[in-house]
Amino acid sequence: MAELSKIEWCDHTFNPWIGCTKVSPACDHCYAEARDRRFNPRSGHWGPHADRRRTSAANWRKPLKWDREAAKAGTSPRVFCASLADVFDNHRSIAPEWRRDLYRLIEDTPHLDWLLLTKRPQNLAKLAPARWVHDGCPPNVWIGTTVENQAEADRRIPHLLSIPARVRFLSCEPLLGPVNLLVTDHRGHDISALRGIACDPSDPDGPDEYYRTGKIHWVIAGGESGTGARPSNPQWFRDLRDQCTAADVPFHFKQWGEWVSVSEVEGPGDHHTFPDGRTVRRIGKSRAGRTLDGVTHDGMPG
Ligand code: SF4
Repeated sequence: MAELSKIEWCDHTFNPWIGCTKVSPACDHCYAEARDRRFNPRSGHWGPHADRRRTSAANWRKPLKWDREAAKAGTSPRVFCASLADVFDNHRSIAPEWRRDLYRLIEDTPHLDWLLLTKRPQNLAKLAPARWVHDGCPPNVWIGTTVENQAEADRRIPHLLSIPARVRFLSCEPLLGPVNLLVTDHRGHDISALRGIACDPSDPDGPDEYYRTGKIHWVIAGGESGTGARPSNPQWFRDLRDQCTAADVPFHFKQWGEWVSVSEVEGPGDHHTFPDGRTVRRIGKSRAGRTLDGVTHDGMPG
């Protein structure tokens, strides 16, 4: 996962277990793996041959406390789950009861909104509780997937759309390529993910036969930070912003990351110019800020 210390869109972070395996280019500079290596130089929890570690009972009690506090205050804090693992990782070391305990904890804390972000949405239908998949997720469950480029958009979004969650969201971070949220699923159907409309081009009645699907309710975008951060073309962020605006879907621009558009912040710094001529400069995450064309985008689902 990306570094999570300053996420403005969540109030708490909960890790039911620690450990994962890299699955796509967004994982290349996984902050959680680097952290794990620091704490466990000999026996880490990353990769297909490493066992995941369940976190302590004391850690598992924290959401119950947050829920009691939220009930008293009449609020609905957001819990990001998980920053040091992927809840839908199907590794053999994750015992079925870990997952059952997590789902029960989520259902027992209705005053918390749980944001489950995964890079493995293809496992949702298998690993989420059958009652969530068939009858609908509890209202406090938000499910999201990472989309860093078009290939992952096409691969991951159709799986996410098939899960009946009140809020489905995309984390386009680190954004590594242009993303059009008009995706093609594995059956060749074209889906407008932001509008929840699909069409079957092979339908004998013609491609004008449209039908409703699930839709995306929220898009978060951001660049990469840390050593070796890869630059994002500012136009990729603008394209996502404009698609969200056109479809009336909330857009949240989390951060530029290490590299910022020269049109946004002036001054010296290493430059990188994309083939379309757009140029970014490396000035560090905190100086780069989070305005896009001078505007802060803090969109949140209602
Ligand atoms: S899925 Fe997330 S936690 Fe797992 S390796 Fe990739 S970035 Fe890291």
